[in-house]
Amino acid sequence: MRPISYTRATGTTDAIAAVTADPRSHFLAGGTTEVDLLRQNVLAPRRLVDINDLPLTGVEEMPDGSLRIGALARMSQVAQAPVVRERFPLIAQALELGASAQLRNMASMGGNMMQRVRCGYFRDTASACNKRVPGSGCAAIEGTSRGHAVLGTSAHCIATHPSDVAVALAALDARIRTEGPGGERSYSFEEFFLLPGDTPDREHPLEHGELITVIEVPSVPIARHSAYLKVRDRESYEFALVSVAAALALADGLVLDVRLALGGVGTRPWRAERAEEFLLGAPAIPQNFHEAARVEMAAARPTSMNAFKVELACRTVVRALETLTGSPS
Ligand SMILES: Cc1cc2nc3c(=O)[nH]c(=O)nc-3n(C[C@H](O)[C@H](O)[C@H](O)COP(=O)(O)OP(=O)(O)OC[C@H]3O[C@@H](n4cnc5c(N)ncnc54)[C@H](O)[C@@H]3O)c2cc1C
Ligand code: SF4
Repeated sequence: MRPISYTRATGTTDAIAAVTADPRSHFLAGGTTEVDLLRQNVLAPRRLVDINDLPLTGVEEMPDGSLRIGALARMSQVAQAPVVRERFPLIAQALELGASAQLRNMASMGGNMMQRVRCGYFRDTASACNKRVPGSGCAAIEGTSRGHAVLGTSAHCIATHPSDVAVALAALDARIRTEGPGGERSYSFEEFFLLPGDTPDREHPLEHGELITVIEVPSVPIARHSAYLKVRDRESYEFALVSVAAALALADGLVLDVRLALGGVGTRPWRAERAEEFLLGAPAIPQNFHEAARVEMAAARPTSMNAFKVELACRTVVRALETLTGSPS
């Protein structure tokens, strides 16, 4: 048995100081990732600093139309907020298609950004895993990789980023604000979610003790006309094989503006910029939707077990965009 000390922080400064003081301290929010991994001996904190009393639970619409989501807002609370449902339906849908109702009531938005990969080898301490033990190898590359990533992979890690809502937020150019020993910072999603490269153990640029405080979503008018589509092995309580967050605006049958991001296929929430570029100004027809997806997926590097994800991603993009144009096949 490993002893773990537990502290309940009363303020942001206390929480940051408590974690910074000990390299083996972790923040504890809803605990739905942290406690799982602790039980599986994947994480071994010496101290947990509970942040649930911090005043970071708001979901606020700002005067400029942007949205501020507190790091401790629960997934269910954000999904139910009227401003999210009306102005950012893709966020509400991504949240409601994730985990289970009980988990969504516990799980915080900050914790969701920090959740760890679902690769079975990462969670099995007997297996080689560069993310868990740097330099030990990657059992997935020659092993079971059906659920793994095809975009953004490296020779050192092919794990998929598991979050649904991060995919919707990536499509909207959201930013992550933090406070830490080095002061306040703000990260774009591209800066925050690091590709595995040759250091898959380094998943984000946060320093030890840096706390996510807020997720900022800019005012994106086309987000009113958006959707999140998730394809998975069973209809609930399952991670995505492929997911698509899409927002679309048309003028005279042409694509005036589009946002696309993919889940289940990338080592990070995957903004489909090549597909967006292909579609801008093009006729909003299924052939172009499929071609745009194909352009994006041209960079895919699948294994023999997950090659099906390339075509599945293309079809899911088409389905999401057809849903938004009102012409589902
Ligand atoms: C069975 C199951 C199914 C799931 N299915 C899905 C799914 O389909 N889709 C999906 O998107 N997610 C899914 N999840 C993941 C779930 O959404 C995350 O576990 C949850 O969002 C994590 O939030 P938490 O508050 O519980 O974080 P915790 O478990 O408390 O923390 C997670 C990590 O983040 C750190 N942390 C927490 N808050 C902060 C902060 N503010 N700043 C800095 N670090 C912080 C902690 O130290 C810890 O390392 C599933 C989880 C489970 C257990
Ligand atoms: S894919 Fe990544 S998380 Fe999975 S075993 Fe390989 S290194 Fe570990």
